[in-house]
Amino acid sequence: MTFAATVLTLYPEMFPGPLGVSLAGRALARGDWSLDTVQIRDFATDKHRTVDDTPAGGGAGMVLKADVLSAAIDHARAQQPDCPVLAMTPRGTPLTQARVRELAAGPGVTVLCGRFEGFDERIFAGRDVEEVSIGDIVLSGGEPAALMLLDACIRLLPGVMGAPSSGSEESFEDGLLEYPHYTRPVEWEGRTIPEVLRSGDHAKIAAWRKHKAEIDTRSRRPDLWERHVGARVPSASGARQETKDQDT
Ligand code: SAM
Repeated sequence: MTFAATVLTLYPEMFPGPLGVSLAGRALARGDWSLDTVQIRDFATDKHRTVDDTPAGGGAGMVLKADVLSAAIDHARAQQPDCPVLAMTPRGTPLTQARVRELAAGPGVTVLCGRFEGFDERIFAGRDVEEVSIGDIVLSGGEPAALMLLDACIRLLPGVMGAPSSGSEESFEDGLLEYPHYTRPVEWEGRTIPEVLRSGDHAKIAAWRKHKAEIDTRSRRPDLWERHVGARVPSASGARQETKDQDT
């Protein structure tokens, strides 16, 4: 089944962009996913093709108009009625690997990209739209966020990644960061690959990797660790000390 990506944007020329090369590009060429862009401006109704207006209450910038956005969303939904509509906004729910996995298992996704100060808030009451943030940063537009979201989904589609296990063992899949990786040369600038990884003992390697994933998550991402163990964790500085002590 083809995963249908539809992007509502003022800058359709930004797509597929980086998704046209490498894994995602080859998957697009194979038909594992499809891409359709919708120019939001096509749904403006005045002769100037206006998509934005000044913020009610005053202030800097411009706001995307609800009447134009709703017409663009309704058009996309008529094309892909089964695909959820996600609006990219820093005010949204932070995107997680779990949500990406759910989306990748579905028929596709319709992504609404903001610009300027963002969307007229009434669009979220008037249409079934999920507000999604890609992190606590502010981009100049939703397009890079949409590319990120789509990249994360596409790599999970069946057949897109080389080794199936490379998806399931990665960071966040089990609530932890992934263990660290090494490759040849065995010694580089006086630093060697941990001995256990060269032992050939698969049980020991698995145990070392699990341990490293746990202590790294605990020291680097106490928020993830807390969720993982379902309990309060020691301070980040204490955990960091423990990481150093146990590093081999
Ligand atoms: N005024 C908005 C605010 O402070 O929340 C920021 C608007 S931003 C300059 C313009 C557009 O970029 C947004 O409408 C959104 O589509 C996109 N954007 C910016 N940061 C984002 C983020 N962290 N996650 C998802 N989309 C983002």
